[in-house]
Amino acid sequence: MTRRHVLVTGANRGLGLEFTRQLLAQGDHVIAACRQPGRANALNTLAGDHPGRLHVLPLDLARPHSHQELARELPLVLGQGARLGLLVNNAGVLHSGERLGSLSAANFEDSFRVNAIGPLLLTQTLEPLLADGARVVNLSSSLGAIALAGRFGTPSYCMSKAALNMATVQLAHALSGRGIVVVAISPGWVRTDMGGNNAEVAPTEAVAGMLRVVAGLDSSDSGRFLDWQGAALPW
Ligand code: NDP
Repeated sequence: MTRRHVLVTGANRGLGLEFTRQLLAQGDHVIAACRQPGRANALNTLAGDHPGRLHVLPLDLARPHSHQELARELPLVLGQGARLGLLVNNAGVLHSGERLGSLSAANFEDSFRVNAIGPLLLTQTLEPLLADGARVVNLSSSLGAIALAGRFGTPSYCMSKAALNMATVQLAHALSGRGIVVVAISPGWVRTDMGGNNAEVAPTEAVAGMLRVVAGLDSSDSGRFLDWQGAALPW
């Protein structure tokens, strides 16, 4: 059986690093993308422990030019004719502490670039390198669910994740002809730099859950919004 090739964005810490660890443990070839590979100590240690199975490449989601550079480098690490079986659009940003009265365009622009436009444009750029039947997973959030918005909180984040949800549906339609399944998955409230120490779920548990959900996806799931245990979330 041939090895599956997986690309994970924001792979240097948090959920992205845990995705990388667990995907390596299950035998995949992982391309771990992050802003500063030279400083990604945990990834570089993992790469040393898994010769030939982990490649660390630079990617800044906010810069489409960086997407193009990644697409140029990918074939070199994938090998002749190989394609990605899974793309995990994990990188994300949350500008906390927003208050009505002091909202700034800068937070919105950054959040939309990284959380919504970035994953959409990256997927577009990498489309020729996705295998037929590949899976694309967009790390969304229940905070992006309009139906669940019960109070004011971090509008730049919530709105950008709502936009990511729409990007997921758009991509699902655009890629259905190639059997590519695109989903938005909420990881739960997870103990990372973003989720904080009081969060409910350990990264190991959240990622194991999401990988189980991904393994169980079929074409009828494309365009759905799911939680880390596979339950449907409202938009
Ligand atoms: P972290 O803040 O721990 O990690 C975020 C990752 O995204 C880092 O690797 C960071 O890289 C990367 N990143 C940020 N901006 C960019 C950019 N412009 N280009 C490339 N990479 C970038 O977050 P989590 O691991 O907790 O979150 C992962 C995903 O899960 C995110 O999409 C988040 O929104 C989502 N999520 C998380 C929840 C939680 O409770 N933790 C809840 C719901 C959703 P760098 O180190 O360079 O900053």
